[in-house]
Amino acid sequence: MICLIEITYAQNTVQKPLIWEMSKNYEIMFNIYRAQVDSDLSGHLILEIEGSSKAIHAAVEFLEASGAEVKYMESDLILHEDKCTRCGACISVCYTRALKIDDWNNIQLELSRCIRCNQCLEVCQEGAIERSRT
Ligand code: SF4
Ligand code: SF4
Repeated sequence: MICLIEITYAQNTVQKPLIWEMSKNYEIMFNIYRAQVDSDLSGHLILEIEGSSKAIHAAVEFLEASGAEVKYMESDLILHEDKCTRCGACISVCYTRALKIDDWNNIQLELSRCIRCNQCLEVCQEGAIERSRT
């Protein structure tokens, strides 16, 4: 199972090696897509995590018990194939590879990989990508 989560740390938690402990103790593979520390020293992370559903559930419980807030991310992006000219601009800016081109030269959107970075919306000149709600 693979899913995207957003983790928010309070100032007193940001120095703890929680992600390392989560990975080691619960056998979770992870990719960090975004990491940010705010001026008030709270922190935000967007992670792709992979493991069994039981392990992911236990890992999220561990993070929450350690003082972090965890949200499962669900993308609401829509790809309008009728408007898409297959220019490929969106693929070149989608670093999580949520957008790909298939063997028939069609653009495919894999919502489970989307981290809502909005890069594709900004580069699509055709209005072929939008959010279902704002
Ligand atoms: S940028 Fe827009 S028009 Fe170009 S391939 Fe992506 S969705 Fe299609
Ligand atoms: S918002 Fe667009 S560019 Fe960003 S991850 Fe999702 S599909 Fe890729």
